[in-house]
Amino acid sequence: MGVMIEGFETLAIHAGQEADPRTGAVVPPIYAVSTYKQDGVGGLRSGYEYSRSANPTRTALEECLAAIEGGTRGLAFASGLAAEDTLLRGVCGPGDHVIIPDDAYGGTYRLFAKVLARWGLHYDPVPLGDLEAVRAAVRPDTKAIWVETPTNPLLGIADIEALGSIAHEADALLVVDNTFASPYLQQPLALGADVVVHSTTKYVGGHSDVVGGALVARDRDLGEELAYHQNAMGAVAGPFDAWLTLRGIKTLALRMERHCDNAERVVDLLLSHPRVTEVLYPGLAGHPGHEVAAKQMRRFGGMVSFRVAGGEAEAVEICNRTKLFTLGESLGGVESLIEHPGRMTHASVAGSALEVPPDLVRLSVGVETVSDLLGDLTQALGS
Ligand SMILES: *Cc1c(COP(=O)(O)O)cnc(C)c1O
Repeated sequence: MGVMIEGFETLAIHAGQEADPRTGAVVPPIYAVSTYKQDGVGGLRSGYEYSRSANPTRTALEECLAAIEGGTRGLAFASGLAAEDTLLRGVCGPGDHVIIPDDAYGGTYRLFAKVLARWGLHYDPVPLGDLEAVRAAVRPDTKAIWVETPTNPLLGIADIEALGSIAHEADALLVVDNTFASPYLQQPLALGADVVVHSTTKYVGGHSDVVGGALVARDRDLGEELAYHQNAMGAVAGPFDAWLTLRGIKTLALRMERHCDNAERVVDLLLSHPRVTEVLYPGLAGHPGHEVAAKQMRRFGGMVSFRVAGGEAEAVEICNRTKLFTLGESLGGVESLIEHPGRMTHASVAGSALEVPPDLVRLSVGVETVSDLLGDLTQALGS
């Protein structure tokens, strides 16, 4: 075209999504197909031969994911955990070691503890905010440092650039699960990460209507290696799911701006409420990760957690009393959600290092009219 295309919103809408050459359709069709006609034995007409290896709708999504994360290769999977499993079994082997956050997403922790540990992969949960502790945990067989920032549900912040230096000194990969920030708010590959992981189920898809995952590699060689493992293990995204995810991505920037606007107003309300004892949000100057977050994030996101005066009973009651904030797990959709991590998303880690305070409530602040959200929280919090 001869026109520079580099803005985030432009890439989100156009990357990988040229008009269909046959019909001019401006949106890539859903290619519900498993196999492709070949020209002759050994010859390929289209570059596609079987949809586990490649499918045009998935290709459109994968090219778009690579563009919006600033990587060379994007790969779409059936879920976030399928992406994680493919990455870990692809780049690690039995006997290798991975450093993981001490407050990792529960499903990620379970994958390490219950599946990959049996296969011989070693891991150490470490507080990633403590760079000395991370350095001390590095071993000769450390293959990767796994980062989440912000974390779930305590919204802790890890310094991607600093962790990248530690990983690379040790010849290990820096992996960043960018699910909570989304590529609009945070670009880990530009900060030194080698691979970005997503549960596209959350902000990237954004409409609570599809489960999916992604890997985006910074370097071509690693991208090729991961693409090989994607095909070899086979946990790919189907064409309908890829299409829905791509549809969601088009409005990611708009949605994230509104998620952040609304979350900031919710934080203000919570800070001034007498029943709220602590508000956890990286945008607050008093948050221990605020400076790092301000350095590596465009804004501070739509996730807000808070603690209440009346302990677990009050936290549970608030979750049961909201009308507009829907009680439910997951996050990152257009609709606001509320949950009690101790009894819901984090119930399975009770008694472990990942246990969360019982008086904690987590909000995924949606993009509804903010006065309606504030009104619902006000009535649910009581006085
Ligand atoms: C949800 C989530 C995952 C897992 O993704 P699924 O799509 O549910 O498999 C991984 N990491 C984070 C931070 C998540 O929130």
